[in-house]
Amino acid sequence: MQASTSGINDIYWMMGMIHSINVGLAVIDDTYEIKVWNRFMENRSGRHPSDVIGHNLFELFDEIPQDWFKRKILPVFKMQTRSFITWEQRPYLFRFNTNRPITGSTDVMYQNITIIPLPSTDGTVRQIGIIVYDVTETAVGKMDLQAANHELEKLSRTDCLTELNNRGFWEECLQREFLRVKRTGQIATVIMFDIDHFKKVNDTYGHQAGDEVIRQTSATLRDSIRETDIAGRYGGEEFGVILIDTCAKDALIFAERLRRKIEAITVEYEQMEIRYTISLGIAETDGSHTDYKAWLEGADQALYYSKENGRNRSTIYNTKETKTD
Ligand code: GH3
Ligand code: MG
Ligand code: MG
Repeated sequence: MQASTSGINDIYWMMGMIHSINVGLAVIDDTYEIKVWNRFMENRSGRHPSDVIGHNLFELFDEIPQDWFKRKILPVFKMQTRSFITWEQRPYLFRFNTNRPITGSTDVMYQNITIIPLPSTDGTVRQIGIIVYDVTETAVGKMDLQAANHELEKLSRTDCLTELNNRGFWEECLQREFLRVKRTGQIATVIMFDIDHFKKVNDTYGHQAGDEVIRQTSATLRDSIRETDIAGRYGGEEFGVILIDTCAKDALIFAERLRRKIEAITVEYEQMEIRYTISLGIAETDGSHTDYKAWLEGADQALYYSKENGRNRSTIYNTKETKTD
């Protein structure tokens, strides 16, 4: 080998060996000018080496964020260390279409990238190699799995009749909110409510009609809460709502609005018209309860008080302030 053989020439003959492999290789210099562009890159980008070699990487591929990429390759030049970019950090470096549609979900090629220093004979690094691995299959597989897991997780915390949070998940939320309030010194309020004389609804109109009443109650509840409030089906015809950063007095306004809405509803089921009411119990916490169960027990006692005092009303725990029109 001649002594004048440059690092670039070395790469050229090495390219002969790697042309056939199914991995992308681009070489750029310290001015970001493209020096080598292998067949994989040519095929996937649709750009012939003669169209890219000698051109600036960022001018040809404006999908590559300059500042970020320059930061990423700095240690490769300065410290001669490798640098890696995974598809999870950034789906791709070069926006290439995938030539094998695996599912309908993507037509972009997901890439893992390795950036290697290519030292010259004098030991300095003026060129670096960008190796592009097509990991679309792995990425799509993993994302499908994640989507399926996400859906499963959602199902496992959702009540199927009402699509509200189920009791287990709702209680978890309640516990989390209690601990948050305790830590931050803020306040939160929980409301428990229960459909009045629901057994009579079932007995008079049938179980299916009863289910419809539960569904309509849930829909009304969902329409009444804010984004941050957490509603759940606690039991058969019993529901819970966690109102974050809300005191009992403000929760009473919410409770009364909900109670009146329900009172005004007519549920129609197979030509039957069903009217019904709910009773509510409200308890605030500043974190001084022993645990979330004690907090919930307060709301339950207030609900019991509403039931005992005529139903179709809201009661705040302790103050026993009870509201009805
Ligand atoms: P109160 O005003 O004191 O709350 O009286 P209630 O009749 O509503 O209360 P009770 O707890 O005695 O009865 C609740 C009934 O709800 C009993 C149960 O059969 C019925 N139930 C529980 N879950 C469901 C359900 O998913 N669908 C239907 N249709 N009925 C249910
Ligand atoms: Mg009931
Ligand atoms: Mg009940």
